Amino acid sequence: MRPRIRGGRTTVLAALLSLALAAPIAAAQAQTAPSAEPAAGPTQQAELPHQYEVTGPATRTERTALAATGVSIDEVHARAVVITATRAQAKAVRQLGHTLHKLPDPPGFTTAAPHKPRGKDFPAGYTNYHTYDEATKEIDALVAKHPDILSKQVIGTSHEGRNLLALKLSKNVTKDEQEPEVLFTAHQHAREHLTVEMSLYLLNEFTSKYGSDSRITKMLDSREIWIIPDLNPDGGEYDIASGSFRSWRKNRQPNAGTSEVGTDLNRNWDFKWGCCDGSSGEPGDETYRGASAASAPEVQVVSKFVHGRNVGGKQQITAAIDFHTYSELVLWPFGFTNDDTGDGMTQDEHDTFATLGKNMAATNGYTPEQSSDLYITDGAIDDWLWGDQKIFAYTFEMFPSSFGSGGFYPKDSVIPKETSRNREAVLQMLETADCVYRVIGKEGQYCKGR
Ligand SMILES: [Zn+2]
Repeated sequence: MRPRIRGGRTTVLAALLSLALAAPIAAAQAQTAPSAEPAAGPTQQAELPHQYEVTGPATRTERTALAATGVSIDEVHARAVVITATRAQAKAVRQLGHTLHKLPDPPGFTTAAPHKPRGKDFPAGYTNYHTYDEATKEIDALVAKHPDILSKQVIGTSHEGRNLLALKLSKNVTKDEQEPEVLFTAHQHAREHLTVEMSLYLLNEFTSKYGSDSRITKMLDSREIWIIPDLNPDGGEYDIASGSFRSWRKNRQPNAGTSEVGTDLNRNWDFKWGCCDGSSGEPGDETYRGASAASAPEVQVVSKFVHGRNVGGKQQITAAIDFHTYSELVLWPFGFTNDDTGDGMTQDEHDTFATLGKNMAATNGYTPEQSSDLYITDGAIDDWLWGDQKIFAYTFEMFPSSFGSGGFYPKDSVIPKETSRNREAVLQMLETADCVYRVIGKEGQYCKGR
């Protein structure tokens, strides 16, 4: 039996947090009747989603039923969750018998601003977050300064034509040496801007401390580290383009036969795609899985990159972290099934995942659990990386722990603390990447002759 969400000891805290969330909301904003809202006409901007606190769902089965309406579940507490939903989806959730409270919109949030000048930067209080152009400039400067240990490849382009980058960090970086490889990916979901900062933190930390910090030096000497800092640049730019946040999650790929835009990249990977009610087939939904597996160009590009690291029949990447926000969780596969073990996951593999996951969580204070303990997801990158490529792949849900602490939009003042918070976890993963099974003491059984 796995511990309940966030553990029994925090149930009371979770209930209090839920209350703390609900009280001001109920006071400030009456529940909006969908019929009272003007219908979105063809001349209006597409409806933007909102976050809601949903009281009722208390089990992963109930949460999975909730997710099946196509909303994204952003936060899980003992008896409540926070979701992102359109008005139509919110209605569907109410019909499941749950109580919804609409949460305040993000700072500067606007539902329709088609004539506003396009913003070139994040809003006030967020300007230290990097736009796509700012991140690209910073990366190029780092590559120019550290050409011996950092290289940049353009591995493809997004739907709107922005470059998707893979940065390699290693001694003798221009050579493909016989070293274990580790992959860090970020920003599948547009509004999760802190994850781009996580990538930039790692690039800055590793390049600036190579030669002075013994652990970092050893890792760059003996590993090949890949960082894909921005999987969804189109969505990220769209989220800030009006000068205020849009709470956008998906990419910006049009969907044939509908005006609805975007695929949820983290439901689009080609392993058990759409298998298990862990994603939506409706193009307007937050968790739309796409028309077919890997139909999103961004997923295709990164899938091809990962396949390309299979050299001579052997996948070189042994471990991976995909960064998201928020909730402060360390998650491991599978998401498509509630089973701990079974087809594609032996007991030793599960134990290795859980042990390293708990070890890493002990360093950053996140909650470790199997992904499906929250609710079922299918087509997620960590399921694909493990199920298809046998890479020990984790999902980190970064700061904050709740909507009340900033949700998807914490101020830029948290960036240094909340990115460096994962330094130790990242180093532990790198240090175990030559034989991840070492964490359960089975190096001899699984890693001989490596
Ligand atoms: Zn995410």
